[in-house]
Amino acid sequence: MSDQVKFVLDEKDIPKTWYNLTADLPKPLPPVLHPGTKQPIGPADLEPLFPMELILQEVTGERYLDIPQPIRDVYRMWRPAPLIRARRLEQKLGTPAKIYFKYEGVSPAGSHKPNTAVAQAWYNKQAGVKRLSTETGAGQWGSSLAFAGALFGIDVTVFQVRVSYDQKPYRRALMETYGARCIASPSNETESGRSILKQHPNSPGSLGIAISEAVEMAAKDPELKYSLGSVLNHVLLHQTIVGEETIKQFEVAGDDPDIVIGCTGGGSNFAGLAFPFLGLHLRGGRKRRVIAVEPAACPSLTRGKYAYDFGDTAHLTPLVKMHTLGSTFIPPGFHAGGLRYHGMSPLVSHVYQLGLIEARAYHQVACFEAGVEFARCEGIVPAPEASHAVRCAIDEALRCKKEGKTETILFNLSGHGHFDMQAYINYFEGKLVDQDYDDKELAMALAGLPSVAA
Ligand SMILES: *Cc1c(COP(=O)(O)O)cnc(C)c1O
Repeated sequence: MSDQVKFVLDEKDIPKTWYNLTADLPKPLPPVLHPGTKQPIGPADLEPLFPMELILQEVTGERYLDIPQPIRDVYRMWRPAPLIRARRLEQKLGTPAKIYFKYEGVSPAGSHKPNTAVAQAWYNKQAGVKRLSTETGAGQWGSSLAFAGALFGIDVTVFQVRVSYDQKPYRRALMETYGARCIASPSNETESGRSILKQHPNSPGSLGIAISEAVEMAAKDPELKYSLGSVLNHVLLHQTIVGEETIKQFEVAGDDPDIVIGCTGGGSNFAGLAFPFLGLHLRGGRKRRVIAVEPAACPSLTRGKYAYDFGDTAHLTPLVKMHTLGSTFIPPGFHAGGLRYHGMSPLVSHVYQLGLIEARAYHQVACFEAGVEFARCEGIVPAPEASHAVRCAIDEALRCKKEGKTETILFNLSGHGHFDMQAYINYFEGKLVDQDYDDKELAMALAGLPSVAA
């Protein structure tokens, strides 16, 4: 075997279709319910929020969906994204395992998120939508949608979680550079925001609150739609281009991963890489270990309840069945802002429930340690979110060393950390603490789950 490090494809090899895992599931996904009637909703119920093409993608059973050419044309700006073998990291760890990572930080916004932002903005544009509202945690999603809005001439308003708004002024500047309006959430601009501020004037905010504000804005303005950066089926669908490319790149590499790893906030970069591999398995191929890695301070898969819940704090969204910490749960303000969501994508929750994937949780200091070790070998500074996947890949490589196994490990390096250097500064100064969530608050949030007949 050659000592090749980087496995690149040609522009013409950018996949022409997205892959829909629901076509291959052994058991169908539980339905989405109307919050009032608790009956399954239909496409028309979602029309105030999303354009019909995206709603249809949300419910389709088709295995492959064509990627429209204008979207592929934008993808060509940074795709195909490289698959890289982390040879220096392997040597440093002294592991017989092979470590590969798919690098999504090459996009203009620095993460995987433009893969769906561009698609969502394009479908909205086709439907005549003039304005989009959304939420952002760390600012990655906000800057991705701001970028996509700039390309297609759509005004973008971003509700940024207060703690990130204060911690990450450069992400805000990036959103504004792309032409978006950025508002700290909770804000005074919506009823949901005002009611939170009345109870908690110093609220650090949460993704659940910011979603309420963005959804409320869309519900009140017929020319404005809402856009979500993770969790939903159509978002995961758009991200599958990551795994589809990776499968082709492994053919070039003459290798095949035994373990596939991704960090999980709402589940989209994880699903984007893992679902195409899971599809191979469900259609009769071999079973690989697939591991979702989440923060110990916001552990929806490993500590949450699999139940119907709202996607937002003010309860404006439909009910979806997912692993949840409760929609009123506010996680402590740790640094991987993109992982601070109370719920998990229903599709990722479903495959976890079916035993098709594993999950584990890490504290942030161990993740930064792994991120720094990775940077010193491979040169790329991982986003704090992505450092969770790095931690897991390193731990698996060290296990292989102990057991003398030559397994092939693949992880998604979902983004770079160039806008997160304050977090690294805090880490170097020893100021990062491993915060646990408050057990009592979690119990309260879970006690407040809506009751739905089984
Ligand atoms: C937003 C983000 C995540 C978390 O979102 P998912 O939908 O779970 O992928 C992970 N990594 C990076 C770099 C992000 O920007």
